[in-house]
Amino acid sequence: MRVGIAGAGAAGLATAWLLDGVHDTLLLETRRDVGGNLRSVHPPAGSGTPTALDLGVQEVPLHLAGLTRRLADALGLDSGQWTRVPADRTIIRDGTSARRRADGAGTAHRGTGESSAHAADLLAKHAASWQRDDLAWIVRLEEVVEPWDLPRHVKDEAVYALPASVFGCTLLDARRLSARAVGAFYADRGDGADARTYRLRGGMQALAWQLARQCRSARLVPGAALRRVRRTAGRLEMIDGHGARHAVDAVVLALPAEAARCVLGSLGGAGRTQALLSTYTYRDLVYGVHEDPCYLPADRERWTPSTVTVHGPWAETTTWRARPGGDLFVSQLTHRGTLPRTVLATTAFRTPQPTPQMLSAQAELLSLQGEGGVYFAGHTTTRVDDLDSSLASAVAVARLLAPDSPRLARLAGTTGKEAP
Ligand SMILES: Cc1cc2nc3c(=O)[nH]c(=O)nc-3n(C[C@H](O)[C@H](O)[C@H](O)COP(=O)(O)OP(=O)(O)OC[C@H]3O[C@@H](n4cnc5c(N)ncnc54)[C@H](O)[C@@H]3O)c2cc1C
Repeated sequence: MRVGIAGAGAAGLATAWLLDGVHDTLLLETRRDVGGNLRSVHPPAGSGTPTALDLGVQEVPLHLAGLTRRLADALGLDSGQWTRVPADRTIIRDGTSARRRADGAGTAHRGTGESSAHAADLLAKHAASWQRDDLAWIVRLEEVVEPWDLPRHVKDEAVYALPASVFGCTLLDARRLSARAVGAFYADRGDGADARTYRLRGGMQALAWQLARQCRSARLVPGAALRRVRRTAGRLEMIDGHGARHAVDAVVLALPAEAARCVLGSLGGAGRTQALLSTYTYRDLVYGVHEDPCYLPADRERWTPSTVTVHGPWAETTTWRARPGGDLFVSQLTHRGTLPRTVLATTAFRTPQPTPQMLSAQAELLSLQGEGGVYFAGHTTTRVDDLDSSLASAVAVARLLAPDSPRLARLAGTTGKEAP
């Protein structure tokens, strides 16, 4: 069987890796590099920064049942390559701050933002109960948050600011996101549960490079976008940006919804699928690496590893990495009024908005999985937009296309070791 995959983000790469050696596999990727949202930059030698900086996926939980952990183990990325991400976070606006420790060490409040810290804790506790009680995914965040007994500005600046920064939307739009999909990022896992998150020292993109390297027989073509999928002589055909045609028996679209909708334009019978994909909305996110502490409080004593700044209708993050040669910052720059003095690198992303409409469309999209030989993997199919879920979507596709894949069995059987 010949399988064509489009999109070499985590989901497309993991699908190719799982099918490798079982099917004749082709993977098209529009960018020159693989990884999609796994995007790391390496500061120049001698800059005093020993490890890579991540502009896309920055941290993952590494609990033993998690797929990221099991995949990393299967790829030979041992525990020594993971490093813990400090969990201290501050929310600031107009000089007020709320400081929250999400590393299981309790909560530290500070300054005038005590009520904001309380709100963040409230979100963590409620989010856990939404999961436990199986709250419907179509319930909007505002439906559950508005009844809370908190001042208006605290709801906006603490509760809605957190998802607004993750999803690149306004505080107002954050209210309309799915409470469950948002809550998954903040849920308190309960006493004793490991709430720590980790990143790879060599950058999270190393996962993508390892996946690509270990695809021995799959053909990976970076710099070749999928333009169209059509049916010809009873087979599917993928046409890439160079005009090359690839006859395949199945197509896996591990693409953003907007790209997937475009490539299906010429495929007869895909009208419903296209309509579903058109309900997905995305927001721009621009990240930059810089040396200017312009987004942090003037008093260095008040800096925490992660800061969310609420400005106007937006909330944007800055992560701070102290290094021998001076401080380094990774900031969201999408809506800032003032840019840092020296920006060393920037990169842009599009991030899906987990609205109730999108989640309803997604459920129907999954019911069409495999129809006419077209499969979906990646964030178009995941209710929670995180790395673990994207990898799980690749596993789900591999189960349908290659149930006997030795790597599938290996992934299911990999137990992992204690977190580093
Ligand atoms: C800025 C940002 C930060 C994030 N941080 C975290 C985090 O810290 N932890 C976490 O768990 N999750 C995080 N996520 C979510 C995580 O990135 C996603 O859940 C997951 O990586 C998505 O993988 P994917 O393969 O589905 O999609 P993507 O990574 O978007 O990959 C899609 C690929 O398709 C390619 N493509 C597009 N059009 C075409 C075409 N026509 N032909 C061929 N290829 C095409 C793209 O170039 C891209 O490589 C973050 C997301 C973003 C945007």
